[in-house]
Amino acid sequence: MEQLTHFINGKRVAGTSGRFSDVYNPATGEVQAQTPLANPAELDAAVAGAAAAQPAWAATNPQRRARVLMKFVALMNRDMDKLAEALSREHGKTLPDAAGDVQRGLEVVEYCIGAPELLKGDYTDSAGPGIDMYSMRQALGVTAGITPFNFPAMIPMWMFAPAIACGNAFILKPSERDPSVPIMLAELLQEAGLPDGILQVVNGDKEAVDAILDHDVIQSIGFVGSTPIAEYIYSRGCANGKRVQCFGGAKNHMIVMPDADMDQVADALVGAGYGAAGERCMAISVAVPVGDETADRLVEKLAPRVEALKVGPYTSGNDVDFGPVVTGAAKENILKLVESGVEAGAKLVVDGRDFNLQGYEDGFFVGAHLFDHVTSDMDIYQKEIFGPVLSVVRAQSYEDALKLAMDHEYGNGTAIYTRDGDTARDFANRVNVGMVGINVPIPVPLAYHTFGGWKKSVFGDLNQHGPDAFKFYTRTKTVTARWPSGIKEGGEFSIPVME
Ligand code: NAD
Repeated sequence: MEQLTHFINGKRVAGTSGRFSDVYNPATGEVQAQTPLANPAELDAAVAGAAAAQPAWAATNPQRRARVLMKFVALMNRDMDKLAEALSREHGKTLPDAAGDVQRGLEVVEYCIGAPELLKGDYTDSAGPGIDMYSMRQALGVTAGITPFNFPAMIPMWMFAPAIACGNAFILKPSERDPSVPIMLAELLQEAGLPDGILQVVNGDKEAVDAILDHDVIQSIGFVGSTPIAEYIYSRGCANGKRVQCFGGAKNHMIVMPDADMDQVADALVGAGYGAAGERCMAISVAVPVGDETADRLVEKLAPRVEALKVGPYTSGNDVDFGPVVTGAAKENILKLVESGVEAGAKLVVDGRDFNLQGYEDGFFVGAHLFDHVTSDMDIYQKEIFGPVLSVVRAQSYEDALKLAMDHEYGNGTAIYTRDGDTARDFANRVNVGMVGINVPIPVPLAYHTFGGWKKSVFGDLNQHGPDAFKFYTRTKTVTARWPSGIKEGGEFSIPVME
C-alpha cells in the first residue's frame, strides 16, 4: 500500500501520528494509498518552519517572488498530463476536466505574477504642510488554507498563489480524499525556486484543522468546503482573532424564460448539471422554466440528452462525459436523496438508480438523474446533493422564478437564459446571488475578477482571487511623515485638522 506524506521544509515527510486515511480510486473502489493525518505537534513543526522562512521571503523584492511563480507556470504546463492523471486517479473526474482544474488554478498564478503592480501602495505628497502620507501592503506572516476534494489543484492555488506572491508563508491542509496533486504542486514550486518552508502541505482531518484554528502564529485562514464546516471554521477562527474567509455550499438555479433557445438551454444544462458528476460548487442543480409550456419543451429536450450521457472511468478518454463520485459514502448519500425525491412525489424522468458499469461494479459510479415537478419543500430542492441529479422546478412567472433563487439559503451562482435584455438586466440587478450568468450556465469569474457567493455560501467579506486576494493576504500600513525641518517651530499640542 502506497503511503503518502506531508511536504514540509522542502521535502516529503512521513506522518508520525500513526493515523491514516484511505485514498480511493473512485473508478474501481479500491484503496490505492493512505494519507497521513497530522497531529498538532506535526502541524506545529510545519508552522515553525514557515515562520522561520517567511521574513526573508517577505523581504525579497516582489518581482523576484513573481519570477518564481512564472517558472511555476512553465513547470505546470510541462507536467500538465501527469498532474491531470494523478488528479483523475484520486478524484474520478475525466482527464480533460482534470486538466481544466489545473488550468483554472494556473490562471490565478498568472494573475499573481502581477504582484509588484498589485502591491503598490498609495502616496499623497504634501498631505499637510511638509507632510507626506503613504500606505503599503505588508504580508501577514504565516497564513493557512483548508481545501475541499472537488478541485484539488485549482482551489489550493487560488489560496497559496496570492498568499506567497504577497510575501507570506502558507500552510495548506488539502482534502484527505485526493491529497497527491497538492504535494506535486508544492514540489514544482520548489523546483521553480520557492525557498523551503514557504509552502508547507500538511495532510489531515479535523484534528489538524483544529490545530490550525487554534495556532497562535497563524494569521489568516482560507476555507472552501461545505457550509456547516465553513460556519464552524469561521466562528472558531474569528474567535481566535484570525482573519478568516470561508466559502461554502451551493444550490445554483438556472432560470429559463419562454423566449430562450431550448436546444441551447438543454445543452448548457447537461454540461452544467452533470459535468464532474455534479461535484462542482458552480454546478446547476435546479432548472426553473417559466410557464408549463416552457417546462414541457425543456424536459422533452433534456430527457434524451440526459439518457445519452456516458458515465465511465477517466481511463476511457474522451468517450466519457463524467466519472464516478468521490467515495462510496458520497454515492450512498446521493442515492438516498434521490429516493427521498421519489417518495416526496417528484417525477423521476430519467432514473439512474440501477446504473451499473460492467467491469467496474465496485466503482462509485452514479447514473444521471433528472427530476421534474420538484417543489421547494422537498429535501432534493433544499439540500446540496453534489451528484449527477438535476431538478426541474416549474415557476408560473418570472417573479416566481426570481423569488425561488432569492429565497434559497445558498447564493453561490445562478444563470438566466433569455433573448430579452431587459429581463436579463433586471435579473442580474435584483438577484441576491454572488455570481450571475446571462446565457452562460457556469459563470465562474476569471482570475482577474473575484469569486464568491452570497448568503450561506460565504462567511467573511473579501472574495477569492483577483484584487480581493491581495487585500486578504496583506495588511495596510499607512505612514504619515514629516521631516525635521517641518517641526523646527516646536511641538504641537492640539490635534491637527485640515483648514
Ligand atoms: P468538506 O466540508 O467535507 O471538507 C472541506 C475541508 O474541510 C477538507 O479539507 C476536510 O478535511 C475539512 N473538514 C471536513 N470535516 C471537518 C470537520 N468536522 N472539522 C474540521 N475540518 C473538516 O467539503 P468537501 O466534501 O471536501 O467539498 C465539497 C463541498 O465544498 C460542497 O459543499 C461544495 O459546494 C463546496 N465547495 C464550495 C466552493 C465555493 O467556492 N463556494 C468551491 C468548491 C467546493
